[in-house]
Amino acid sequence: MPKVMVVGAGAVAQVTVCKLARRPDLFPEIVVASRTRAKCEALAARHPQARIIPEAVNADNVAQTVALLEKHRPALVINLALPYQDLPLMEACLQAGVDYLDTASYEPPDTPKYEYRYQWEFQERYQQAGRTAVLGIGFDPGVTNAFVAYAAKHLFDELHYLDIIDCNAGDHGRPFATNFNLEINLREITQPGRYYEGAQLVEVPPLSVSQDVRFPEIGVRRAYLIFHEELESLVKHFPSLRRARFWMTFGESYLMHLRAFMNVGLTSIEPVDYEGCSVVPIKFLQKLLPDPASLAPDYKGWVSIGVQLRGTYQGQPRTAYLYTNIRHEWAYQDCGAQAVAYTAGVPPAVAAELLSTGAWKPQPGVWNVEQLDPVPLLERLPAAGLPWKAIIDYPLDFIDTPE
Ligand code: NDP
Repeated sequence: MPKVMVVGAGAVAQVTVCKLARRPDLFPEIVVASRTRAKCEALAARHPQARIIPEAVNADNVAQTVALLEKHRPALVINLALPYQDLPLMEACLQAGVDYLDTASYEPPDTPKYEYRYQWEFQERYQQAGRTAVLGIGFDPGVTNAFVAYAAKHLFDELHYLDIIDCNAGDHGRPFATNFNLEINLREITQPGRYYEGAQLVEVPPLSVSQDVRFPEIGVRRAYLIFHEELESLVKHFPSLRRARFWMTFGESYLMHLRAFMNVGLTSIEPVDYEGCSVVPIKFLQKLLPDPASLAPDYKGWVSIGVQLRGTYQGQPRTAYLYTNIRHEWAYQDCGAQAVAYTAGVPPAVAAELLSTGAWKPQPGVWNVEQLDPVPLLERLPAAGLPWKAIIDYPLDFIDTPE
């Protein structure tokens, strides 16, 4: 792959660039383009052994991005900016004839509700142009989709129940901080919880459903039902699923702060007038709170992300839990990052490697991760820093497990 372009220079991009920079044989030139050029320059300075070219771009501006793509002619764009940039970047890649990867599905800025339909609408145009887009190749979505695809092919005859569980059991020593972009994170968590029951999407009030889960090596943590984008693509591609849910753990202090922010309107995306200035409360809150990347040096403890599946194998009921446990300290040692950014940033680098070596050769079109062969990705993850395990018939002590 002659050149790759990373768009965005935040917490997740920092990890992806760290991994790409270690493979000059595959990625001899890495363009890092983001809104703030100084952040791209700082990333380049961290990896003097690699050829990293910093650039400034407003990825909302298709013409500007196309001009940059035509200047550098990368083979692949890795979008690690925000979900709002997905559509303009997909459009720019089509116009410039470049393949595309991202880690989060598009969400309209004025509607905190992500849906894949906006990006799936590019399918025909990508096919006609002979270009490929791989959507949602972080950890969740990303590796979680690959876990489900692997289990469907190798561990089950039929899948019935899916629970994706994201547990951050680490401690960063701050009263309140988010582990990735605050605006995106709080928009996700403060939405109504949604899950699939058959083909129906069931909606519950935000953070109103929770249960204790016993995680391997970590112990019991309280997990809250929230909506997450991979549920939408997974129920579409695995129609035997009778139910699909996503859970995220939160500690008491986090929830106490979050509820206070919600109660006083600080998580609102509606602008308010303050002395003649238009202020969006959630953006103001983001200014006040720590940059997620800055948490890395002090962060200690485990992050665990996995999928619990139930179904049948050779006519018998079966449960499988596929998961990765890593420590914040390991992520810091490897790439100077905290583990949430690390789990999200390693998979796009591995995906770029699989595409560049031909281990993944998707047909032209727009694909979710579960539509690609999960084996090359899962085989490569441990060496890239994300070990994983599959445990058969070891349910995670869910209170309301079916059957
Ligand atoms: P950050 O806020 O740390 O970084 C975002 C970067 O994008 C910043 O450098 C920002 O620029 C840049 N950016 C924002 N808008 C534009 C624009 N219009 N043009 C160019 N650059 C822009 O976010 P994170 O690194 O925490 O998250 C990055 C992405 O990763 C998000 O989409 C998030 O949803 C996704 N993610 C995916 C996960 C997964 O497992 N699938 C898990 C965690 C995150 P500036 O520096 O100027 O602000």
